[in-house]
Amino acid sequence: MSRILIIGAGGVGRVAALKCAQHPEVFTQIMLASRTKSKCDTIAADSPQPMQTAALDADNVPEIVALINEFKPDLVLNVALPYQDLTIMDACLETGVHYVDTANYEPLDEAKFEYKWQWAYQERFREAGLTALLGSGFDPGVTNVFTAYAAKHHFDEIHTLDIIDCNAGDHGQAFATNFNPEINIREVTARGRYWERGEWVETDPLSWAMTYDFPEGIGPKKCYLMYHEELESLVNNIKGLKRARFWMTFGDSYLKHLEVLGNVGMTGIAPIDFQGQKIVPIQFLKALLPDPGSLGPLTKGRTCIGCLMKGLKDGREKTLYIYNICDHEEAYAEVGSQAISYTTGVPAMIGALMVATGAWKGAGVFNMEEFDPDPFMDALNSNGLPWTEVEL
Ligand code: NDP
Repeated sequence: MSRILIIGAGGVGRVAALKCAQHPEVFTQIMLASRTKSKCDTIAADSPQPMQTAALDADNVPEIVALINEFKPDLVLNVALPYQDLTIMDACLETGVHYVDTANYEPLDEAKFEYKWQWAYQERFREAGLTALLGSGFDPGVTNVFTAYAAKHHFDEIHTLDIIDCNAGDHGQAFATNFNPEINIREVTARGRYWERGEWVETDPLSWAMTYDFPEGIGPKKCYLMYHEELESLVNNIKGLKRARFWMTFGDSYLKHLEVLGNVGMTGIAPIDFQGQKIVPIQFLKALLPDPGSLGPLTKGRTCIGCLMKGLKDGREKTLYIYNICDHEEAYAEVGSQAISYTTGVPAMIGALMVATGAWKGAGVFNMEEFDPDPFMDALNSNGLPWTEVEL
């Protein structure tokens, strides 16, 4: 029996809130708060369970503290933007509630994905006896749990890990991003980075590619090497890893648009002067691009995100692939969002469920692979994200 405060009423917030509402036995009271209250009200109107809503500026710690003191949640699920992670963690510490998020903190003026800012909260959460669960989306999130599950059940040592994220869906738009455009473009245009033999190797953005043949009829797709935040914790927590990489599929049209936008400076994050006003190019671009939420009814096809792992079991070499396939139209029919929001919002709810029920318990700041993967893996199967494991 838990009271949950969900912060952020975007694409992911919608799925997370509606999925929490499917578990009234755990989440007895739900409050959804975001910068724009009307967005919370629209989501609450679609909920099978009553949901309170509130306007909240999550950049403002006293405002978050006041809302927590008023609603008295047991935990806060942060599905706003990565910029709000630290203010929400501060408010959770001040009020004594658990914290769950889906993306690591990023400073507004620097597109850099690092856990150092949030790992710095370790002692404070430990001393307060509170849990902070970081990165409970799909990637990071489920990919960390897939790896932990493989390490627990299938390998004595995992030597190589390739996380491969494929969106084989199509929304029919010339250029659009599947989640927050600003966060998405900052991530995709960053330098690539992978981990090999104990050190990080950098690559130019999107300069390395491979073709992977995805299962269940999706077929071969070009995947680009990127840096992704779960690599940072996985190389610490999965013993014996010799190499860890992350790949994502992109269509030619998406890449061409991105290249042109980058060349003309539209993806820049530094403010520029425009007619006497300071504007940030990428924020202006975001205002022009389709709202990812509007892609829900338009997107067809499937996503396939999984972990390809090689290693040793009982002295024998083994290759294992664990993946989930999610259908955009089925996700939309269930919760009114396409599969990108769905594959993030469902694990966000499950992470909250793990903390709320005590299935995952601990004082401190945790990445997903640090807890027992089994209850999370079971919950994926029963909450719309079934997974498959194949030995190759
Ligand atoms: P959206 O842009 O659709 O939604 C973000 C929401 O947060 C909006 O409703 C916005 O309000 C609200 N918000 C922004 N700033 C504030 C603030 N200062 N105070 C209160 N509310 C605020 O993003 P998504 O739903 O696509 O993504 C949500 C999160 O999920 C992001 O952190 C993203 O990085 C993460 N993510 C994680 C993935 C994973 O697999 N781990 C995959 C995809 C996303 P308003 O609408 O009024 O501006």
